[in-house]
Amino acid sequence: MVGNVCEKCGLPKELCVCEVVERETQKIKAYVTMRKFRKPVTIVEGVNKDSAKTVVKELKRKLACGGSYKEGNIELQGNHLRNIKGLLVKLGFDEEQIEVE
Ligand SMILES: [Zn+2]
Repeated sequence: MVGNVCEKCGLPKELCVCEVVERETQKIKAYVTMRKFRKPVTIVEGVNKDSAKTVVKELKRKLACGGSYKEGNIELQGNHLRNIKGLLVKLGFDEEQIEVE
């Protein structure tokens, strides 16, 4: 049975709606954390895997910084909290789903 049931809800995959629910309630969270050598990194959580690649690319271009997508989070070098919300909205995210700390 393992592999045929959803890890989250335990329902068979054809009945599981977790992914749909997740998409509908998708929350984007942006915050800054310090990495080694005291370098700030802006983390954007909650961008869905399918769009993350495009989002990283656009953010890197608009902010002129380095960035990557790791373990479900977008990481951008530097502190971009002032601009991140506006840019995400331009990329098609709903202002209300974005939380900036
Ligand atoms: Zn499920």
